Amino acid sequence: MKALVYNGPGQKDWVEKEKPGIDKPTDVIVRITKTTICGTDLHILKGDVPAVTPGRTLGHEGVGVVEEVGPAVRNFKPGDPVLISCVTSCGACPNCKRQLYAHCSDGGWILGHLIDGTQAEYVRIPHGDNSLYPIPDGADEEALVMLSDIMPTGLEIGVQYGKVKPGDTIAIIGAGPVGMSVLLTAQFYSPGKIVMIDMDPARLELAKQFGATDTLQVGEVDVVEEIMKMTDDLGVDVAIEAVGVPATFDICQKIVSAGGAIANVGVHGKPVELHIEELWIKNINISMGLVNTNTTPMLLKTLNSGKVDPGRLVTHRFKLEEILDAYEVFGNAAREKAMKVILNA
Ligand code: NAD
Ligand code: ZN
Repeated sequence: MKALVYNGPGQKDWVEKEKPGIDKPTDVIVRITKTTICGTDLHILKGDVPAVTPGRTLGHEGVGVVEEVGPAVRNFKPGDPVLISCVTSCGACPNCKRQLYAHCSDGGWILGHLIDGTQAEYVRIPHGDNSLYPIPDGADEEALVMLSDIMPTGLEIGVQYGKVKPGDTIAIIGAGPVGMSVLLTAQFYSPGKIVMIDMDPARLELAKQFGATDTLQVGEVDVVEEIMKMTDDLGVDVAIEAVGVPATFDICQKIVSAGGAIANVGVHGKPVELHIEELWIKNINISMGLVNTNTTPMLLKTLNSGKVDPGRLVTHRFKLEEILDAYEVFGNAAREKAMKVILNA
């Protein structure tokens, strides 16, 4: 089969690789029908995630069809269409029992990280019963790919950890696929104002179409000053960081209101300065974490009922074998006006 393989910092290739087989009785082999590229794959390619070793197939998102199941798999059979979760979980260890799937003792985020991932014709999914979801009849498969990672991430780590409530004023910093997923899922809770903040005017324009009530362009306006004006100097109820750099975490610290929350979603590679001398008195919460994907069943229902349409995040489509071109486009997202790319096998 063919797979997109990481060959060390800055190097990737579309190569012939051995098709995966059943290793453990709980494994499921999935034939990929649609996959995508994540910002995290770009981080890996920069060499930011040293746990990824040369030869690893990248990718942790996608949908496909069950090709083969191990003898202990009960929920799936060959031919079943499935959604692949970016988080693998056994469903039985102490952390899984608390729905902390990200910290499964035999899983977590391992796909395209510690084991071969989904940017390939076939992928082996350990603990298939708990790590795959049946695809409802008639579901939009492109939209479903957004449920592997970005939609549960936005909902769980941004909206739920931030405790977005009806009427709240919320600010989302970073209008990438993850920030956009926060924007889409925050609307389940009817916040009063949603302010989207980014430096890319095209992404801010898109955010307006997706339900942002206000947008602020970093570099054009003083974001903190504008937020304070908008909120009568109170600040926002929830500040959601969806970039992963100190500057944007710092904006969150400056705009959170008394009694509010900072929900950090971004993956950080550097320490941030925590202004506890200003924040201690404000009765705020600060949260962060790795997506658990425990909201996937709920998101599947909202998708099926048309309450949310993450398929709108797809801007570019390629054949799977054109994946190197897709990386080129996704890696230059601002220039290409790209949000999510879909690779069709
Ligand atoms: P992305 O790079 O596509 O989007 C980031 C956005 O931030 C871009 O639109 C960019 O223009 C904007 N930006 C960059 N610097 C900025 C600044 N100084 N001020 C304002 N805006 C700025 O990334 P993404 O795929 O949307 O992911 C966002 C973050 O979420 C990443 O750090 C990613 O690794 C992380 N993530 C976390 C989890 C989790 O489980 N916590 C899961 C998936 C992704
Ligand atoms: Zn991802």
